[in-house]
Amino acid sequence: MTALLELEEVVKHFPLRDALGRRRGAVRAVDGVSLSVAAGEVLAIVGESGCGKSTLGRLALRLIEPDAGRIRIMGEDWRALSPRALRQRRRHAQMIFQDPFASLDPRLTVAQAVEEPLILHSNLSARARRERVAELLARVGLRPEAAQRWPHEFSGGQRQRIAIARALACGPRLIIGDEPVSALDVSVQAQVLNLLMGLIAEYGLSFVLISHDLSVVRHIAHRVAVMYLGRIVEEAPAAQLFAAPRHSYTRALLAAVPGQGGRAAPVEGEPPSPIAPPPGCRFHPRCPFAEPLCAQTPPELAGAAHRIACHLDGRLPPPAPFAEHATGGERLRRLAARFTTEDA
Ligand code: SF4
Repeated sequence: MTALLELEEVVKHFPLRDALGRRRGAVRAVDGVSLSVAAGEVLAIVGESGCGKSTLGRLALRLIEPDAGRIRIMGEDWRALSPRALRQRRRHAQMIFQDPFASLDPRLTVAQAVEEPLILHSNLSARARRERVAELLARVGLRPEAAQRWPHEFSGGQRQRIAIARALACGPRLIIGDEPVSALDVSVQAQVLNLLMGLIAEYGLSFVLISHDLSVVRHIAHRVAVMYLGRIVEEAPAAQLFAAPRHSYTRALLAAVPGQGGRAAPVEGEPPSPIAPPPGCRFHPRCPFAEPLCAQTPPELAGAAHRIACHLDGRLPPPAPFAEHATGGERLRRLAARFTTEDA
């Protein structure tokens, strides 16, 4: 499959400065990440809070500038684009943010919010734009009268539908969703996810889902990349990753999903600071299998379809099977079947 999004050794360190503005170290948010997403593919990026997954999503669309690495979308080098060219290309790749309350401009009506990208990126006439806005609102399950109302008049689920309509306005090929449903109630999450996945399949979009909810990820992702302290530690087709996780951190994440053994358990130990990550394998202070080599030498991310960064790959005991969390993905799917699109 042709890669629609390609990231190569992308790095982002946020400098820390003291009161006098002198540099005092850096948060190594993303530290050499390579990933690709094929046309029509759904890739999930998972990991604990602070692992760098949201920063990576923003870097992929150059919403923040990387310090190093390559970003290609539809074969084009996005780091080489001028600010003007970058603005033009944005119609190909859109982001849906976690907070639908913050992502819509309160000074724009729904119609204005959805029309704005069409004004910026298309040559459509005013009449054609109005028709397109009406078509998009209907497609995301909103009634025509929603067009002249204001964002604050809507529920969280409805606002996320408006954000989806806006993201789709110019016919993007890639959407990055940063926890797009995690701020919503569970029943509304199911409806919005269902809508999103239906649209992604219908338009053949590539989708990067940044999420901490492994039950949801399991049901919608084709492939999963697991991040730990700014690096990918394992990446595999979703079915393979859930059936036979190979990295010790992936196993710990899956074991921490509520329902594993009847209760939710956090991954043991505190994640080390991204300001001073541990030497060697960054997971070694928390890894029950760590050997002396792990504290000295960083493992390479190796493999093809299933990539893993672990010195002991193939030598760890078999993992416990991942049992579906009763209040996770299955529940979301059951709930989704019960609601119509207008309930959110
Ligand atoms: Fe654990 Fe060592 Fe593998 Fe890191 S490299 S995950 S510390 S066994």
